Amino acid sequence: MPQPFTLALAGNPNSGKTTLFNTLTGSRQQVGNYPGITVEKREGVLKHGEHSLHIVDLPGTYSLTTYSQEELVARNFLVQDKPQAVVDVLDASNLERNLYLTVQFMELGIPVLVVLNMMDEVAKRGMTIDTRKLSELLGNPVVETIARSGQGKEHLLDEAVRLAGERRNQPWQPLSISYGPDLDPVLDKMAALIQDKGFLTGTYPARWVALKYLEEDEEIRRLGRLEDESVAAELDALFASVSSHCQKTLDTHPEALIADYRYGFITSLLKQGVVKRKDALNRISFSDKADRILTHKLLGPGIMLAVLYGMFQITFGLGEAPLGWVESFFGWLGTSVQSLLPPGLLQSLIVSGLIDGVGGVLSFVPLILIMFFVLSFLEDSGYMARMAYMLDRVMRIFGLHGCSVMPFIISGGIPGGCAVPGLMAARTLRSPKEKLATVLTAPFLSCGAKVPVFLLISGAFFPNQAAQVLFWTTLAGWAVALIVARILRSTIITGEPTPFVMELPPYRMPTLKGLFIHTWERGWQYIKKAGTVILAISILIWAAMTFPGLPAEKAEQYTSRIQALEQKIQEAAPSRQAELTKKLQAVRTQKNAEQLQATAAGRIGTWLEPVSSWAGFDWKTNIALVGGIAAKEVIVSSLGTAYSLGEQGAGAENISLSDRLTKDPGWNKIKGISLMVFVLLYAPCFVTLVTMARETSKKWAVFSLVFNTAVAFALSVGVYQVGTAVWG
Ligand code: GDP
Ligand code: MG
Repeated sequence: MPQPFTLALAGNPNSGKTTLFNTLTGSRQQVGNYPGITVEKREGVLKHGEHSLHIVDLPGTYSLTTYSQEELVARNFLVQDKPQAVVDVLDASNLERNLYLTVQFMELGIPVLVVLNMMDEVAKRGMTIDTRKLSELLGNPVVETIARSGQGKEHLLDEAVRLAGERRNQPWQPLSISYGPDLDPVLDKMAALIQDKGFLTGTYPARWVALKYLEEDEEIRRLGRLEDESVAAELDALFASVSSHCQKTLDTHPEALIADYRYGFITSLLKQGVVKRKDALNRISFSDKADRILTHKLLGPGIMLAVLYGMFQITFGLGEAPLGWVESFFGWLGTSVQSLLPPGLLQSLIVSGLIDGVGGVLSFVPLILIMFFVLSFLEDSGYMARMAYMLDRVMRIFGLHGCSVMPFIISGGIPGGCAVPGLMAARTLRSPKEKLATVLTAPFLSCGAKVPVFLLISGAFFPNQAAQVLFWTTLAGWAVALIVARILRSTIITGEPTPFVMELPPYRMPTLKGLFIHTWERGWQYIKKAGTVILAISILIWAAMTFPGLPAEKAEQYTSRIQALEQKIQEAAPSRQAELTKKLQAVRTQKNAEQLQATAAGRIGTWLEPVSSWAGFDWKTNIALVGGIAAKEVIVSSLGTAYSLGEQGAGAENISLSDRLTKDPGWNKIKGISLMVFVLLYAPCFVTLVTMARETSKKWAVFSLVFNTAVAFALSVGVYQVGTAVWG
């Protein structure tokens, strides 16, 4: 005799629960047709095959957040009595609204059998529902019933018994929905804290508790305070700060935002052909109308490309002038400090290490701020979610998932992102294989730290074409990420694709204030990094580029040669002075170059040169690329340092790095492109690798370091060799 199952009958008021309960149990119950009739808990027992089933009719609710007594009763029964499954009764003629509760059961993680009741109403209204599709997208069984006539009852019981049996000894599997860029990070942080402290986790899933804190659930807060006051206070504080943040930036509160995203999840679900209406009975919202155009099969992708292209044009149209100002400011600063300080280590540290290093990173702040502003606009308006939605179809071709789009976009699918939050966003992927493929390929995209390299190269070799260069590097990043994903998915990470549902929150007009705050938050991250991590790495790299330096003997030889020349210049006739000065400069340049080559970094760079030269990289570039594994921002700054150290004194004027490259006979367009390809694709930065190890395993982080560098090098060599053969 198998163990009896407890099934909870739940659903919105008036969805037909009590009618169904009566049909199933055969007992007589009063049937009401207005909301709120079922207040107490009613139970019944029946036999189905060899199973005996204990059925509990829960009060009707719209939500599992405790606004009312009914909701509290329903929720407490689920988490305390832990029935084997919820039989979730939906008024199928009102699917969108009814699914709101279903999604909340799924977020709780309890096994759910979705019952589409009132199928007679559905037919009468001229609608059709693709039950199989709905089941596939939800990942839960779905059955159709007409409770009034008892139709579908046997099938319902079969499925309920099957589901309860299948999932009996498994832990609940909570669904994770993305609640957008403002709430997700806080939600993750809260969930981690909750998990860590075992706060209420005996009864509720960690992320769910976090969500209830954001939804201001009084009951959870009360239980929380009883459980552990200090954790509760910490959660309250996190809530308070994100709440005021939402108020300031989006002019709304977290609870409303959560509802938006939950409905967004349902919208996208229904949009995939689940419901077809013969007539347009339901009201059409503005968002639906806008989506008819913006996510149209043919128009949509075209509009999306135009939006991206427009974004680059705006960024560079507006950003060019301020970029020039900041560059000249740092040039001026360098020259001034150089003339104030005596030549020597200190001058070199400040001018070559700090000003050229950090200045190189900070020069791009105006451009990056403008780009972040446009990015915030796309995000706040709700358009970004549509891009993800449209790209789902593309992602599938490459063995990825619609939920891979957000990690890609955040990592730099729209330039300016960062792979670290990008990889964390991949947590929404439920299939471990799709998650792994996403995590491994997202670092190929154009993160904000790579962008300065592209801008530098386009400034030097493709003047006035920066927008195009960035557009194409962005597309190249996508192409490589997708192709590599396809290859990985058909070789080392094979497995079936899983269905896709994503949140499509309603469009909203972003507020100017909100845009400024979001822009500033992102921009400040960048500036802060320049002032801390990048500063520290710049000093380290400067030291590696300064010590040990030339052997004393050699240095003395140079010093005496220089002194002799200086002496000569003073004594020489005016007609010979120009020639002698030139000679002096040549000796100084030679000394500086030799000096740099004799340093730790120089030796590494030189040691790599025989191989790196296949891709066109000289030893100075190698220094920057090796440093770039620590943080990609360092590439531009160490190139700056390498080229300024190598030449300092040659020409006294402090010119910008891109001018230096343009004038350097060792550089040309093809080398520039080869460098861009390499920087776009090679090893993820250190922080990304650490994140990757945490999200997957150390093995995959090491794989990524080696594999990405190999891919990058192979393509760069290809570009350089072919380019040189054809145009060189
Ligand atoms: P509850 O609030 O979820 O318990 O819903 P009830 O069982 O009280 O039903 C609400 C109303 O819907 C009643 O008038 C029922 O007769 C009606 N109803 C229930 N199931 C169906 C169905 O499958 N089709 C139709 N057309 N009406 C139904
Ligand atoms: Mg009822």
